[in-house]
Amino acid sequence: MSLVTHPGFPRIGLKRELKRALEAHWRGETPVEALLDAARELRVRHWRLARDAGADVVPCNDFSLYDHVLDTAVLFDAIPERYRALFADSRLDGYFAMARGHRRDGHDLHALEMTKWFDTNYHYLVPELHAGQHFALIGDKPLAELREAQALGHRARPVLLGPVSFLLLSKTVDGSDRLALLDRLLPAYAELLRQLAEAGAEWVQLDEPCLVLDQDADDHAAYRKAYAALAAANGPRILLACYFGALGDNLALATELPVDGLHVDLVRAPQQLDAVLDVLPAGRVLSAGVVDGRNVWRSRPGQVLPLLRKAHARLGGERLWLAPSCSLLHVPIDLEAETTLPAERRASMAFAKQKLEELRAYADALAGHPEAEAALHAQQTLLDRQAGQAGVLNPAVRGRLQALSPQSALRRSAYASRRVVQAEVLALPPLPTTTIGSFPQTDELRQARAAHRTGKLADKAYEDRLKAEVERVVRFQEEIGLDVLVHGEPERNDMVEYFGEQLDGYLFTKLGWVQSYGSRCVKPPVIWGDVARPAPMTVRWSAFAQSLTDKPMKGMLTGPVTMLQWSFVRDDLPRETVCRQIALALRDEVHDLEAAGIRAIQIDEPALREGLPLRRADWPTYLAWAVECFRITAGGVRDATQIHTHMCYSEFNDIIEAVAAMDADVISIETSRSRMELLDAFVRFRYPNGIGPGVYDIHSPRVPTQEEMLALLRKALEVLDAGQLWVNPDCGLKTRGWAQVEPALRRMVGCARQLRTDI
Ligand code: GLN
Ligand code: ZN
Repeated sequence: MSLVTHPGFPRIGLKRELKRALEAHWRGETPVEALLDAARELRVRHWRLARDAGADVVPCNDFSLYDHVLDTAVLFDAIPERYRALFADSRLDGYFAMARGHRRDGHDLHALEMTKWFDTNYHYLVPELHAGQHFALIGDKPLAELREAQALGHRARPVLLGPVSFLLLSKTVDGSDRLALLDRLLPAYAELLRQLAEAGAEWVQLDEPCLVLDQDADDHAAYRKAYAALAAANGPRILLACYFGALGDNLALATELPVDGLHVDLVRAPQQLDAVLDVLPAGRVLSAGVVDGRNVWRSRPGQVLPLLRKAHARLGGERLWLAPSCSLLHVPIDLEAETTLPAERRASMAFAKQKLEELRAYADALAGHPEAEAALHAQQTLLDRQAGQAGVLNPAVRGRLQALSPQSALRRSAYASRRVVQAEVLALPPLPTTTIGSFPQTDELRQARAAHRTGKLADKAYEDRLKAEVERVVRFQEEIGLDVLVHGEPERNDMVEYFGEQLDGYLFTKLGWVQSYGSRCVKPPVIWGDVARPAPMTVRWSAFAQSLTDKPMKGMLTGPVTMLQWSFVRDDLPRETVCRQIALALRDEVHDLEAAGIRAIQIDEPALREGLPLRRADWPTYLAWAVECFRITAGGVRDATQIHTHMCYSEFNDIIEAVAAMDADVISIETSRSRMELLDAFVRFRYPNGIGPGVYDIHSPRVPTQEEMLALLRKALEVLDAGQLWVNPDCGLKTRGWAQVEPALRRMVGCARQLRTDI
C-alpha cells in the first residue's frame, strides 16, 4: 500500500498565530516561553491535522521560527562573528539578530541578506560563509522535533536542507568557492544523521531543490561526494527531495546517488515520470509529487491517476509514496475557513489540508477502494463541468485574445519620434522631477479605510477624505515644484489587490495567508476566471487629480506581469494567456486614461524579473511574452502620451534587452542603494529612452542630504545623456511619513534645479 506524506507544512498557522507570537516577543511583551509554547502548539496541531487528513508519515523539522535556511546555518554553527556575543547570551536573541538585525547598547548588527526562495514568494536568509569556515553540529532542533512528534505517536520523518543546496544557496563574504567547504560541512551532517537514526528515525528527507536548476560538473561532483559520505554515516534511510521543476539533465545524477528514495515534482514536470521510472534503481522508493504544492486548485484525477497507475504498475505500492509536488509552505492551510467564497469556487480549490485529503483518496484508489475511486471520478466530473461555467470562460475575452494582432503591441512611432512630440506637449524642463506614485499611507488613511470597510464610515465621507488627501498631495507637489505629479494612491490598499478587486476573474480569500518571510505573510489574490474589466478602475481618481492642476498628472497602473506574478493563477490556461487577458483589460484602462486627458501613464512592473524561469533555457520564451504583455498594455496610445514604467530593485544585466524591448518612454529603477551601479547595464546597452535612477532610498527613514543626491545624479550624468535623465526617488513613498517625505522631496527638487544650471 502506498504511503501518503508531504515534504513540509505551513508554519504560520491558520490565523497567523506564529506571527502574533513572534511580534509580541520582539516587542518584549511576552517571555520566550510564550513564543516557544505557541510554536509547539502549532506543530502539534499541524501534525494532527495532517494525520487526520490522511498522511501516514509527517515531516518534522519543517517548522521554523523564522526560516529553515537560517535554521540550517545555525544548526551547523555557520554563525558570522558579529553575532557571536549575542548568541553567547541567548541563542534565540542571536538567531533573531541574524534574521532581523539588532540594535541595542551600542551594537548595530545588520541582518543576513534575504533573497527569494527559487521562484516562490518565500524569502530565505542567505548564510554568510568564508574560506576555511568552521562547521559543527551545535543544536538539536531536528532531534527535538523528532522526539516531540514520536511522543505524540506520529511516524515522523526529519527534513533537512541538503548539504549541497545549503552551500549553493549561501554566499561567501570573501568570494571564495562555496563548494570547497563541503568537506568541512559533511561530518556535521553525518553526525546529525547518526543521532537521528539512534533516536529512531526510519527516514530522513534531504532537500536538494538546486537539482532542478542548471548545475555544472563541479556541482555534480559535490552531490556525488556529499551523498557518498552521507550514505556511509549510519543514518536513517535517505529520501532525496527535488522540487519546483524537472530534474532534466540532472536526472541521471539524482538516480545515481546512493540514497533510498527520490521525491520528484510531477506537477511542474509530469513528463519526467517515464524517464524517472526508466532510470530509478531497483529497490528505490519514488515519492511522487502529484498535487500542486504551489497553487490552490484541486488536482485533476484524469491527469493524476494515469501517472500514478503507471508508477504503481512499475514499482508496486511499497515503493511508491504519494505527496504534494513540494512543501505545502507555499499554500494556505485550510479551505474550510473560507466560509464566504461562492460554493462553485470553493469546489475547485484545495489548500494544504484538502491536498492531503486528495492524496489519501489517490492512495486508497490505487489500493482498490471503490469509494475513493468514485470520489475522484466525481471530482473530475465537477472540474470538467466547471470549465464551461460563465466567468471561467468569457467568450468576449476569448474572442479579443484571438483577434490580437502583432500591431496591438506596437506604439504608433518609434521612441525617437515620440520623444520629440512629448517634449513639445509636456514642455518639461531638463532633468524632470517626479515620484513613483504613492505618498504616505498615514494612520488616518488606514483607519478611514478600515472604518469604511466595516461600514462605520459612509461612502461619501470616505470619498471626501480621499479627495482631500489627493488635493493635499497635489498642492504639496506643486508647492515644492515637482514637474510630473501623481495623485498619491490614497485609495489603494495594495497595488495588486486594488486592481484585482475591480477585475472579473479574481477572488480574494479571508485567511489565505502564505509566509513571505519571518512573520510577514501575504494573501495573494486568486485568478479563477477570464480576466476582464467591467468598468474603468482609476480614471475617476486620475481625472480628479488632473483637474486640480495644470501640471501633467501621471496615471498609475500595476502592470500585467506583476498582476500575474503576485497572484495564485488558474491552472487550466497557460500563464502567458492569463497575462495577455490582464494586459488587454489594462490596455482599456490606459486608453480611458488617455481619453480623460491624462498625458503620462505609469505601468509598474516590479515583478518582471522575479517571473524568470528557474532554467536559463526557458528565459527567452518567458521574456518574450512578458514584454509583449507590457507592450499590449501600453500599445496604441498617441505618441504624445508618455508611458512610464517602474521596476524596483532588480539586477538588469541579463535582462536589459527585454527591458529595452518594453520600450517605455521613461523607466524608473531603484539604484540608490547600489550607488548607481545598477545603471551599468543600461549604459552598456546604450539604452536610449528616458531613465530615472532612484536618487534616494525610500526604504530607510533617513532623510537624504542634498549633497548625497547631487553626488548620485552627477554620477548618473557621467554615463547618461542629460536629455534622458529623470530625477525621482527609488520607489513609492507609502511606507514613509510626511516628516521624512517633505524635506527629502524638497531637497530632491533642489538638486534638479541646481544641476539644470550646470548642464
Ligand atoms: N506605484 C507604486 C507605488 O508608488 C509602485 C510600488 C512598487 O514599485 N512596488 O507605491
Ligand atoms: Zn518600486
